[in-house]
Formats: sequence, C-alpha cells, structure tokens
Amino acid sequence: MQNLANRTIFHLDMDAFFAAVEQLDFPQYRGKPVIVGADPLGGKGRGVVSTASYEARKFGIHSAMPISQAYRSCPTGIFVRPRGHRYLEISEQIMRLLYDFTPLIAPISIDEAFMDLTGSLKLLGDARTIAIKIKERIKTEIGLTASIGIAPNMFIAKIASDLQKPDGLVIVEPGNEKEFLAPLAISKMWGIGKKTEPLFQRRGIFTIGQLASMTVDELVKLFGKVGMDYWYLANGIDSRPVETGEERKSISKEITFFEDTDDCQKLELVLFEIAEILGKSLREKKLKARTITLKIRLADFSTSTRRKSLTNFTDNSEEIRNTGLALFRHFNCGEMKVRLIGLGVSQFDEASGEQLAFFDKTKPQSRNIDSLIDLVEDRFGKGMIKKATLIRSNPVDE
Ligand SMILES: [Mg+2]
Repeated sequence: MQNLANRTIFHLDMDAFFAAVEQLDFPQYRGKPVIVGADPLGGKGRGVVSTASYEARKFGIHSAMPISQAYRSCPTGIFVRPRGHRYLEISEQIMRLLYDFTPLIAPISIDEAFMDLTGSLKLLGDARTIAIKIKERIKTEIGLTASIGIAPNMFIAKIASDLQKPDGLVIVEPGNEKEFLAPLAISKMWGIGKKTEPLFQRRGIFTIGQLASMTVDELVKLFGKVGMDYWYLANGIDSRPVETGEERKSISKEITFFEDTDDCQKLELVLFEIAEILGKSLREKKLKARTITLKIRLADFSTSTRRKSLTNFTDNSEEIRNTGLALFRHFNCGEMKVRLIGLGVSQFDEASGEQLAFFDKTKPQSRNIDSLIDLVEDRFGKGMIKKATLIRSNPVDE
C-alpha cells in the first residue's frame, strides 16, 4: 500500500477540451465562440451544450446549458456536433504522454486525470517544474492547454486545477490545506450540490472554512454518515490513493522461450511455475480470481488464448495450475512449436483485496472507524474513480 502521508498529487484537466480540439483541427474557429453539443436547429434544438470555448463563455454559455438557450445567447456562434472518436484519440495521446512522468495515473474522464507524482520528484525535479514540463509538452506536442492543480491529496488537487483556468497552475503546499479551502464556497465541496447547499446556507454556512468548524456530531446529525465525509474533506483530509485500476483487471505472467519448443513436459513445467507465481501474487494482494486464461504463441507468431471460469474464487496455486494444465492439454498446437506460453488470472472477487480507506484512519479518534470503513465501502468501493466516470454519461466537460 502506498504511503499516504506527504504525497504530491496532480489533477490535470484539459481546458474546454472538446471546443479546444475543434479549434485545433479547424483554425478558422480559433478566437471565436465555439459551442460543441446538440444541433441548435435555429433555436428550436433540444439537448445541451457539451463544451463551450472560452470565447463562447463570455456570452454566458456553459456546459449542460440547453442548446436552444445557448443559441439565443450567441446566434452567430459556431455550433458543432461532438466528434467523440477524435476527442478520444487526443485523450489517448495526452494520457500516453502523462505516463512519462509517473505510472500512477487515474484517468477520471476523457480529459481529466489524477496523478501521484510522489515517487517521481527525486528523478524529475520539484512539483512545479514537473507541472510546467507536462503543460509545455501538451502544448507543443498536441497543441492544447491544460490546467493543473497540485496538492497533498486528490480532493484539494481537483479544486486547485479549476481555480486558474485556462492554462492554470495552482499549488497547495502541505500544511496549507485548511487555509486554502477556508474561503471557498461550499459548492466546491465533493457531494455538495444544489440540494445540499441550501441546507448549509440556512444555517449560515457559506464557506468551506465555516463547514470545517462544525463538529462531526453536528454534521452527522444533519446529514447522516455523509456528514463525516464533509467534515474530513472540509478539514483538508482525504487519504484516497490514486488507484490506476489496472492492477485489478488481471494478473498474468508469460514466458518466451529462447528456442521454440514442442516439449510438453517442459511446457507443463513452465505452467507449474507460472501458476505458483500467480497464486503467490494473489495472496499477497489479498485477491481472489475466478477466471484462468492460458495464452500460447506458436512459432508462426499466431497467438491464442483459452479461458475457463471456475465456480469459485481462488488464490490457490494448485487450482490455478490444474485449470491451466487442463486448458493446455485441450489445446491443439498441431505440428507447430510453442514460442511463448503464459497464464493469467482475472475477474477478481469484489469483496477481496486490501481495503483502502477513504480517510486517514488515525484522525480524528478511532471511534466510528468501523462504520466509517463500511461507509466508504458502501459508497465508494474500490472502483470509486471509475464510478465517477460512469455517472458522467453525458459528455459534459469544463
Ligand atoms: Mg476539462
């Protein structure tokens, strides 16, 4: 598990992404109000704005606004339909570039990602230097601007990236978390929206600083368990790690032979060893998997996979080995020699795995920790970041 103290977390958010891509691809759109979204149909269109360029925002147009309203605000604007495949293509270029700086990246939408740079500082320089480098590379290699927020945790990094858009860079030093948050409106808080905001305002709570000075008891009385989330976040505490998610999809190991082989005994021996490694790896990660996949590449480079799902979840090397061997024995290599062989395990038990606490368990008192962990599992689970992406089913971007 990562050390959650003294982290350097980046939140990178592309500026008016869809509109910026349109302006990149169509130079005639540059410097003009570009509105990506539904067809306005001369003001009669239904649907909403996905993204408005900064020029369009001057007309009061923003994401999620009805397209008809946007049209009335700026009838001379350039209204275009989203070109999803193109945005995805550029998104992938950006994400690829980010991996040059750290492997710990959690993309949370097409144009946004959290990055944990803690382990990169020694090698790449201080946080500001790295952020400037990332922004420069996105600018020169892709032609777009990004805003970056840097903080000791994800909650604050995300708020920070939004404060100086476009082309922003906001750094919140460790120790300044509360001070940074205090003057901000409570609507900046995770989970506080149009419904919850008035409940606070009625009590004279308008800023995060005011919220932070409420007691946990008071907040829990008012909002139930989620009140505790508010308290932690408002006080600048957020221990969620940047989870890449990748390590959870599957674990696999494969071996390429120096010389192609059709020696079945040798191949089975290799599968034995791989099953042992996979079982150990699962047990270390406290994971159990249900699906075993065999991968074979033959001398002609043709690659096949065979998989079998068990009725139970397992971290048992023997079970993995037996399943892998059964798959192998059913596989017909023909006359061909084997170049590569491997096994993978996937489909992990949702309930297994090391539980990652949403908040630092040591603060405040450990009372209610059990229920806090339950709450975290209930509400966010391990796939919290992915769920957040799914919620944004409508491509709305800021
Ligand atoms: Mg954005």
